Amino acid sequence: MRHDMDAKKAKANERAHCLILPYPSQGHINPMLQFAKRLSHKRLKITLALTRFLLKTIKGLSGGSISIGSISDGFDEGGRAQAKTYEEYLARFQQVGRETLMELLQALADSGSPVDCVVYDPFIPWVLDLAKGSGLLAAAFFTQSCSVACIYHRVYCGELKVPVRGSEVVVVPGLPPLRAEEIPSFIDVHGSYPLAFELVTNQFQNIDKADWMFINTFYELEEEVINCMSRTWKVKAIGPTIPSMYLDKRLQEDKEYGLNVFKPTTNVCTNWLSQKQPKSVIYISFGSLAQLSVEQTEELAQALTTLNKPFLWVVRSSELAKLPKNFSKETIEKGLIVSWCQQLEVLAHDAVGCFVTHCGWNSTLEGLSLGVPMVAMPQWIDQSTNAKFVVDVWRVGVWARADEKGLAREGKICRCINHVMGGDGEEIRENANKWKEMARDAVDEGGSSDRSVEEFVSTLVSGSK
Ligand code: UDP
Repeated sequence: MRHDMDAKKAKANERAHCLILPYPSQGHINPMLQFAKRLSHKRLKITLALTRFLLKTIKGLSGGSISIGSISDGFDEGGRAQAKTYEEYLARFQQVGRETLMELLQALADSGSPVDCVVYDPFIPWVLDLAKGSGLLAAAFFTQSCSVACIYHRVYCGELKVPVRGSEVVVVPGLPPLRAEEIPSFIDVHGSYPLAFELVTNQFQNIDKADWMFINTFYELEEEVINCMSRTWKVKAIGPTIPSMYLDKRLQEDKEYGLNVFKPTTNVCTNWLSQKQPKSVIYISFGSLAQLSVEQTEELAQALTTLNKPFLWVVRSSELAKLPKNFSKETIEKGLIVSWCQQLEVLAHDAVGCFVTHCGWNSTLEGLSLGVPMVAMPQWIDQSTNAKFVVDVWRVGVWARADEKGLAREGKICRCINHVMGGDGEEIRENANKWKEMARDAVDEGGSSDRSVEEFVSTLVSGSK
């Protein structure tokens, strides 16, 4: 196909063309769409490939100058929910995905705009084989932190033996020593989520074929581990992939992610926040997937009642029944509970003084980039590793650690929130401001991430690798 493509391209004299293919879930699409916007701004032609099911369901997708292409995961009517098991979903995605991706590449070539490089999500590693088999350049895009990617790689190649025992400390070059509970949960407890284990470790099954490895982080944030990984691969830190208007403001149109799986309450939160004192509000969110136990929800609710400070809590509709009876009514003077919000808008608001977070990687980067001190309440997968960095490496928060029953208790949560918002939290707040500036500088003109993106674009534009 490559030869064919070269000829057509010369004829059409097109810009260098990148096809971006994320794994079809919100936490993966957002950073890759944002990266796509940066590439497009820097003169590449971009096609974002999404599944037919997603294209049917998402509303208001705003990619600006980015073209949208479609592939199929084999479940056009219901996506992942339509498959009986996750195994079935992934197997069919691979089979139908391959066929429809080939068709899309061919259609783009036929239209006079052949693809030069595929930026793919290593959760779907077969895309790399297909791209290389078609003679294209290919770049993996990791949506976890570089540290977490490094741990997954170690496990994949057997250099980090799992399970890790209770008191054991894991030493990985480029990372601080990690206790068992600070490494990703299903890696620590091998066999607890076998499929997730496969998914994250298989990201490395064919990675040596990739021409670049992009990571949604920035060099200053994970310098040591990026240096270590760079000895083996062409690692490029290109983040944080947060809409430009929250960072360098160079992409005027880039005000939001442009894609929402849940419906946000638009003005309600900002109107409510604007009536509050600066840095007075506790913002609480556990992302799009985490499910708190009823007991954990009660501990948190009790902490908020005891603290008696203004709070904005995102409780997804499916989690609402876990709130203590009458909690919403009894706290109506102090609190606002919403099912989803525009998190960036909330974090950027001057009234917010603390972010109680599950430490999903996107939320962690958002809190860091907007300079909001964090109280970490990690639930599973890579969240505890992210929490470790928030607390001990970047020093922008504290960890409301769970007890032997796996619960972060009311007293602990209160102490943590008081710590980051009170007199003791001054250093944390200073660090938060420092990282906010560093995040902006990284993506701003000439910053470390900007240079990485520029280098990639120049390579594609000049046609040499
Ligand atoms: N988010 C949001 N509104 C909310 C809660 C979360 O827009 O009310 C967004 C948040 O900004 C982030 C994403 O959802 O971009 C969550 O991603 P993360 O990696 O933090 O967690 P996950 O949902 O994957 O566990």
